[in-house]
Amino acid sequence: MLNIILMGPPGAGKGTHAQWMSTDFQIPHISTGDMFREAMSSGSALGNQIKDIVNRGDLVSDELTCALVKERLSKPDCANGYLLDGFPRTLEQAKAFREMGKEIGRAPNLVVNIAAPDELLVQRITTRRVCPHCGASYNVVTMKPKQEGICDVCGTPLIQRKDDNEESFKVRLANYYKSTAPLLEFYREEGLLHEFDGTVGFVALKKDITALLQEIQK
Ligand code: AMP
Repeated sequence: MLNIILMGPPGAGKGTHAQWMSTDFQIPHISTGDMFREAMSSGSALGNQIKDIVNRGDLVSDELTCALVKERLSKPDCANGYLLDGFPRTLEQAKAFREMGKEIGRAPNLVVNIAAPDELLVQRITTRRVCPHCGASYNVVTMKPKQEGICDVCGTPLIQRKDDNEESFKVRLANYYKSTAPLLEFYREEGLLHEFDGTVGFVALKKDITALLQEIQK
């Protein structure tokens, strides 16, 4: 069983690697960032409530985020594994998730952390383009789509996320170090943490993560 938490600073490659992990290991990719962006573009009450917070790079409240995750993880498609991307992001969320995971029978069994230095992160974030329809992620320098500005997977025109600018990135990175990085110690103590170097390139990292997931699946 693969109940995975995918961690790393913004721009480390979580979204990119989540795509193939989800396909190759047949587990749903659950991104809280994608869920919030969907709520924002649908113009729902939740979307309006969080729009300014997300666009400036701040964190949505633990209460709201945990409720959303609990509802999503309780769905039947998560019974045989899941890939959580972008959650938990605070110690409060991690503690709440420890209880919630037990309660709904969906406790995580491994944490994959992808690390990368700040200079690389800011460079990747400001050149990133994403598909607003399927969530696929590209880069105008290092990972161009086959046709400029168009998603390879579903043909939708690509966009730049509103929070993928230098100003919001600074807020997101500061929040990462303050609120999210301490979770590494939390999961190390729980014996769940597996750490990867996000600078090695897509193919090499995919190979290393694949080896780990196959080992755990045995
Ligand atoms: P991401 O796509 O993971 O970079 O998330 C985009 C934005 O959504 C973040 O900058 C936050 O504003 C919000 N967000 C995503 N996940 C969480 C979370 N677990 N807790 C609080 N806010 C979140």
